[in-house]
Amino acid sequence: MTDAPHIIVIGAGLMGLCTADELTQRGARVTVIDGRSGPCEGTSFSNSGMIHPSQACSWDPDARQTQAALDAARVSVTLGKRSKTLLLEKMKQFGMAERDAGCIQLQPSLKAARAMQASQNDLGVRTDVMMGMAESFGRPACFFPEDSSGDAQAFGCALEKNLAARAVRFIYDAEDLDLRCSDEGFAVRTSAHQFRCDHVVVAAGAGSPQILVKLGLRLNLELISGAAADFALPTDVSDFPSCPIMDRETRSALTIFADRLRVSGGWNVTDPTALIARWTVIAPHIFERLDAPQSIWTSQRPVSPVGRPYISATSISNLWVNTGHGHMGWTLCAGSGELLAEMILEERQDGRFAFAG
Ligand SMILES: Cc1cc2nc3c(=O)[nH]c(=O)nc-3n(C[C@H](O)[C@H](O)[C@H](O)COP(=O)(O)OP(=O)(O)OC[C@H]3O[C@@H](n4cnc5c(N)ncnc54)[C@H](O)[C@@H]3O)c2cc1C
Repeated sequence: MTDAPHIIVIGAGLMGLCTADELTQRGARVTVIDGRSGPCEGTSFSNSGMIHPSQACSWDPDARQTQAALDAARVSVTLGKRSKTLLLEKMKQFGMAERDAGCIQLQPSLKAARAMQASQNDLGVRTDVMMGMAESFGRPACFFPEDSSGDAQAFGCALEKNLAARAVRFIYDAEDLDLRCSDEGFAVRTSAHQFRCDHVVVAAGAGSPQILVKLGLRLNLELISGAAADFALPTDVSDFPSCPIMDRETRSALTIFADRLRVSGGWNVTDPTALIARWTVIAPHIFERLDAPQSIWTSQRPVSPVGRPYISATSISNLWVNTGHGHMGWTLCAGSGELLAEMILEERQDGRFAFAG
């Protein structure tokens, strides 16, 4: 028997895995439960790979200029910078390649690039304006030198293996999750398992609201779809970009991973065809050398109002949430896991990402 608290984390995506990691480091016994058959098979499966604190502003065109959205962006930039440091350390530990070479965002005009630079500087994000450079395909752009990139899904799989070796238990293919709380703690059931635990963390991405509503809690999340297409790399990639390139207009990105090129992103996009067409116009010299996509994929980002994620206690004692990171989940996962673990096990008080329910 051990006195270590038993904590169940629901969700084996980036958020659940990073939370499990930080809880385990602080001495908790952790069980991770997921409805799919392995780690990072939800939204964390095929993202653009950018670790980009620079993009903390809400993507919602109606919200992004409000004071609430700017306040949310400010705290997300701070968390993003901490999270990036943690992520790069962990990636190094797993022997994973990261590109610490920044990210570029194409802008519709030089005027727009300068306006972006001013608003980013105001948020504490270093931003350079680019004009007529080969790296931005000759287009006006902003360069964010403090951003990085890496393969989120490969990281999640490496972290899951590492956690399993540190005695974290993983339950996959979990069906009919049922969560009940009493004065003695929580009873968590699936069709095949039954557990008692001291705390529960809901890190179930797009599935989080449905889990919480059964306990009478309303989590305000919008589900915004995005898509991805992966292409095999040609033999000669010497003139391919050395860092991810974002297109502000379509909210999409072109990312070169070790063995493939990915076009991904989009706002309410369920098919990457239009994104591929757009990138073919932006970078014809690249796309004329690619074969048809090897795979395509679509998923839903859990997006909170004004882009402020929920990393928080709830009104139910010892029930916690870590979700709502929208287009920032890879960037923020390590910092979010650390913050929540400190709240749960070290009694840290932090209301920056509070959930009011
Ligand atoms: C196209 C695209 C590109 C992106 N690019 C970037 C990027 O470049 N940089 C960046 O920072 N972010 C990016 N993101 C965002 C990032 O990928 C997400 O924010 C992140 O993956 C969310 O992780 P998560 O763990 O919260 O959710 P998920 O990865 O979806 O994990 C949630 C898990 O919970 C499980 N689950 C749900 N409900 C239940 C239930 N009832 N019972 C059991 N299990 C359940 C699911 O099976 C899933 O495995 C991108 C997103 C998309 C869609």
